[in-house]
Amino acid sequence: MKIIVCIKQVPDTTEIKLDPVKGTMIREGVPSIMNPDDKSGLEIALQLKDKYNAHVTVITMGPAQADDILREAFAMGVDRAIHLSDRKFAGADTLATSNALAGALRMLQYDLIITGRQAIDGDTAQVGPQIAELLDLPQVTYVEDLEFDNDKTFTIKKFLEEGYQMLQVESPCLITVLSSANKARYMSVRGILEAYDHEVELWGFDNIKVDEEKLGLKGSPTRVFKSFTKGAKVMGTLYDDVSSIEAADIIVNKLKEKFIV
Ligand SMILES: Cc1cc2nc3c(=O)[nH]c(=O)nc-3n(C[C@H](O)[C@H](O)[C@H](O)COP(=O)(O)OP(=O)(O)OC[C@H]3O[C@@H](n4cnc5c(N)ncnc54)[C@H](O)[C@@H]3O)c2cc1C
Repeated sequence: MKIIVCIKQVPDTTEIKLDPVKGTMIREGVPSIMNPDDKSGLEIALQLKDKYNAHVTVITMGPAQADDILREAFAMGVDRAIHLSDRKFAGADTLATSNALAGALRMLQYDLIITGRQAIDGDTAQVGPQIAELLDLPQVTYVEDLEFDNDKTFTIKKFLEEGYQMLQVESPCLITVLSSANKARYMSVRGILEAYDHEVELWGFDNIKVDEEKLGLKGSPTRVFKSFTKGAKVMGTLYDDVSSIEAADIIVNKLKEKFIV
């Protein structure tokens, strides 16, 4: 079984700060980590490696420093790491990011592609589903668990707001994983010691067969008109010692005042 996990390096915070003048994200001085959903996706892949001797590849698109998460993935137990980096990929929005990643994935063999549900910086949750569309693969989003059925199918547990859906999906397929799926393993001591002995494959524009017009800033239809940090909310009103019925009445009256109900 061949599994590829897309992992993204993100700032270690959910409180993204924006440059008030340029409107761009301030990355300097913020420590970076492997995106939490991706780490859980990686754990699912490594569990399949433990059980079925699956071959696990990780791939990231990002600047030079993204090498850190590939080394971390080696220390956790992956077999191969690919770093997509090229000036032609710079300024990519989610579509251009997906075009580059899908282009690289087309060059590889896979039974299962795993992405996180969402990156904690960009937060769009678009890249996984876009890759599946570009590669014409069945996709299951919001995955919390996955079992291999010993033939060509996976049984997948998909999280829904009010329960779960159990789905059987033929491989090859793509899943997007939630960080609540598991607690990812720590890097092993031996893995840490050997992390820099492995080769990270550096891939650029020439390694993927994607039209240049679909990559980087050129291939990005998104235009950011304005970014801003949300201001503090006004102080709410506190009601002490009210029963649940009184509380419900207060809420309904407030909603009526605002013409919401
Ligand atoms: C106009 C525009 C310009 C931009 N320019 C830049 C730029 O110059 N530099 C920059 O760093 N960002 C840039 N961004 C942000 C960048 O587009 C997003 O970070 C990226 O497309 C992923 O989107 P997301 O973070 O919402 O990921 P989501 O869709 O929320 O991610 C879902 C999953 O997809 C996978 N994934 C997402 N991105 C990657 C990746 N890069 N490598 C591997 N797997 C991945 C992960 O598994 C992740 O959990 C730009 C955005 C816009 C709108």
